[in-house]
Amino acid sequence: MKLVQTHIPGFPRIGAARELKFALERFWRGELSESSLLETGSKLRAQHWEMQRQQGLDFVTVGDFALYDHVANHIQLFGCEPERFGFRGSETPLARYFAMARGDGAHESCACGQNGAALEMTKWFDTNYHYLVPEFSAGTEFALHSEQLLAEVAEARAAGHPVKVALLGPLTFLWLGKVRDAGAATADAAAGGAHDARLDLLERLLPLYSRLLVQLRAAGAEWVQLDEPILGLDLPNAWRNAFEPAYWLLSQSGTQLMLATYFSPLEENVSLACRLPVAGLHVDAVRAASELTSLADWLPAHKVLSIGIVDGRNIWRTDLDAALATLMPVLAKRSGAVWLSTSCSLLHVPYSLAAEPALDNELRSWLAFAEEKLAELALLKTALSADERVSGQAARGFAAARAAHASRRTSPLVHNAGLRARVAALAAEKAPDRRHSPFADRQRQQQARLKLPAFPTTTIGSFPQTPHIRAARAAFKRGELTAAVYEQAMREEIAHAIREQEVLGLDVLVHGEAERNDMVEYFGEQLDGFAFTANGWVQSYGSRCVKPPIIYGDVQRPQPMTVGWAEYAQSLTAKPVKGMLTGPVTILQWSFVRDDQPRDATAWQIAAAIREEVRDLEQAGIGIIQIDEPALREGLPLRRSRWDAYLAWATKAFRLSAAVAGDATQIHTHMCYAEFNDILPAIAALDADVITIESSRSAMELLGGFARFRYPNEIGPGVYDIHSPRVPGSEEMAALLRKAAKVVPPAQLWVNPDCGLKTRAWPETTAALQNMITAARQLRKEMELS
Ligand code: GLN
Ligand code: ZN
Repeated sequence: MKLVQTHIPGFPRIGAARELKFALERFWRGELSESSLLETGSKLRAQHWEMQRQQGLDFVTVGDFALYDHVANHIQLFGCEPERFGFRGSETPLARYFAMARGDGAHESCACGQNGAALEMTKWFDTNYHYLVPEFSAGTEFALHSEQLLAEVAEARAAGHPVKVALLGPLTFLWLGKVRDAGAATADAAAGGAHDARLDLLERLLPLYSRLLVQLRAAGAEWVQLDEPILGLDLPNAWRNAFEPAYWLLSQSGTQLMLATYFSPLEENVSLACRLPVAGLHVDAVRAASELTSLADWLPAHKVLSIGIVDGRNIWRTDLDAALATLMPVLAKRSGAVWLSTSCSLLHVPYSLAAEPALDNELRSWLAFAEEKLAELALLKTALSADERVSGQAARGFAAARAAHASRRTSPLVHNAGLRARVAALAAEKAPDRRHSPFADRQRQQQARLKLPAFPTTTIGSFPQTPHIRAARAAFKRGELTAAVYEQAMREEIAHAIREQEVLGLDVLVHGEAERNDMVEYFGEQLDGFAFTANGWVQSYGSRCVKPPIIYGDVQRPQPMTVGWAEYAQSLTAKPVKGMLTGPVTILQWSFVRDDQPRDATAWQIAAAIREEVRDLEQAGIGIIQIDEPALREGLPLRRSRWDAYLAWATKAFRLSAAVAGDATQIHTHMCYAEFNDILPAIAALDADVITIESSRSAMELLGGFARFRYPNEIGPGVYDIHSPRVPGSEEMAALLRKAAKVVPPAQLWVNPDCGLKTRAWPETTAALQNMITAARQLRKEMELS
C-alpha cells in the first residue's frame, strides 16, 4: 500500500475558549501588554500544532495564524502597508497592524492631513469571514518583512514538528487587493477587460516571494503551501496567463510548493493547475468532487495530489465509507504520492465538540468540529495505509461513523413525516409563490388601506438594544427572571419605541425588536430542526466571532414566533406597525446547513415556516410585513455559471414565504452590505411591494442600477449610515433624496435609514430620525406631493 500523508490547509486561530478574542480586546483597552498579547499568540500556535500532531497529521501548518487577519499579515509580510498607517515612522509594527485593522484614532482630529481610516473589510470568498482589503497604488514598492513568519517556523521546529508553511499565493494576494486611484482599471478588469493595475505589481512582488521561499526552506520548512483559491473563480485571461510564468519563477527557489485551491471547482483551470511547476496540488474534493477523477488522471505522476476529502466548511461527521469509496480508485490510479486533507482551512468551523457537553447525544454523534475532523483524517489514513486489514481503534472509528450516519438517515429528530406532507401539499397549490394580483393592483389596494403620504418614512426594524435590554435577556436566560417578568420588560421597551416613533412622526412604525438577540438566532430558537451550540464560535473578523445555528433536521414552526409582539405594538398606535421577519435565504446563509438534502430543500422548509408566520401576522391585523434578506447576495456561488440556479431557488424561497399575503398586505424586504446591481432581475423577481436598501455610503450611486433596470416596485434607499453615531443634517439627507428622485420616480420612493438601529444609542437615533423626517417633509413640499 501507498504511503498516505495528512495535513490541513489551516486551523482556526481564535482559541478553544476564544483566548485570542479576549486577549485582543484587553490589549485594545490597554489592560494587556504587547508582550502578553504576543505570548497568547504563541501559546495558541503551540496548542494548535500540538493538537494537529496528536491527531496524527504528518505536518503542522505554520503561517495560518494571525492576530487579526491573515491577509493583513501578508500586507506586513510584503511591506505594503498604506503610508497613512506609519507616517511618523515611530509606530511599532503591531501598532501599524491594528491601525490598518481598526483605524488610527490618533489622526482622526489632527491637522496632519493623514486620514487614519482603517482598511476596507470584505468577505473572504463565499464565507462569512471578512478580510482586510490590501490597498495598492501604481507606485507600491514591496519589502520583505519575514521576521515574524520565520520566528513562527522556528517555534514549530523547536517543538519538534515537521513544518508546512501556508501562504497566500502571489496572484490571489494581488487579486484580493484594490489599487487606489485606479478604479477604472480595476473595473475594466472585472468586466473582462485586459488591463488590471493589480497585475502590474506582480513583477515587483514575485522576487520577494522567491526570497521568502528560500528563507523558509533554509529555516526548515519542508513544504510551502501557496493558496490560490482564485483558480476557482471566473478569472480574466490576463490573470490566468500570469500563473505559469509566475510559478516558473517561484519554482526556481527549490522549495517544495503545494498549490492549494478550494471553495469552488477549477473547471477551465484544471489543466492550468495541473501544469504549474509545483510539487503538489491541493484540491477541494467536497466543492469540486466531480473533478477529482480528471485531476487524478492529469496531474503528472511526480506531483503530490492533496485531496481535501473532509468538509472544512461544514460541521457534519464525514461518511468514512463513502470517503474511502471515493479515494480508493484515485489511489489505484496514481503512482505518485497522495495526501489527505480537509477541503479548506478549518477557520470556518468551531474548535471542538469537547466544549459541547450539553448537546443532545444523538445530534452530537453526527457532528465533527475542527478537532474531530483531524481525527477523521487520521482514520482515513490508517484505513488507506495499513498493510493488514483495518484493526483495533481504526475499526472502531469506522464503526462509530457508520452508526452515526445510519442514525442520521433514520432519526425522528431529522425526519418529520407530517411536515414533509405539509410541504408537499404546499407545493401542490396553484403557484404558491405568486401573489394574487400584479403589483399595480396591489399597490392601489395598499394605498387605499394604508393612506400613506408621499415619501413615507419608516425604519428597518430594530431600535437601540440598550444595556438594560441585554441585561434583562441575559438574566432571563440564566433563569433569574421569570418568563412573565421578562415579557413585561420587553413590552415596556416596545411601548417606549412606539411612543418615540409617534412623537417623531414616522409614518410606518416598528416594534423595535427588543426581544431579539440576533435576527437568525431568534427564529432558529423557535423552529424545530435547529440546534445551538454553547461554544461553537467561528471567527467573523478580528476579535469578532459568530455562533451559527446548526440546521440538522426538517424545519417546522410549532407556534407563532412574532405575532404576540407585533399585535401588542399595533394595539398601542393608530399608525401601521410593520411586522418583522427574517427571510429563508438569510436564515440558511447564516447557519450550518444539513448536507443530507439539497440546500434548496432546506430553504423551502424554512420558507414554509415563515409563510405560516406571515399568514398569522396578517390574520392578527398587521398590514405591513417586512421579510429581511440581507444575505441574499452573499449566497451567490463563486462561479457565475451557477448564479441562475441559485437565484432561481433563493427568490422562490422568498416568494413562497411572502405570497400567502393578500393583495392589501404590503410586503417589504430589506437588503444591505452589498452591491446589488448585478442581481437586479432576481431582486425584482422577489416581487416585494417595497425594498429598503443600504445606499447612503455610496451616495445613492446604487440607485443608478435600479433606474436603468426600471425597478418596478417601491424603493427605500437608505438616507443615512447607521454604522456611525454621526447625526447627518436634514439638508444632507434631503440632498440624497433629491438625487434619488432624479433616477427613481418620486412616487416610488420611501425614506428610511440604511439598516436597523440596534447598535446605536437613543439620543443619536431620535436626532437622526428627526432630521430624516424633516428631509422627507421638505421633499414633499418641493415635489408638491403630499
Ligand atoms: N430588521 C433587522 C434590523 O433592523 C435587519 C438587520 C439587517 O439587515 N442586517 O436589525
Ligand atoms: Zn440591513
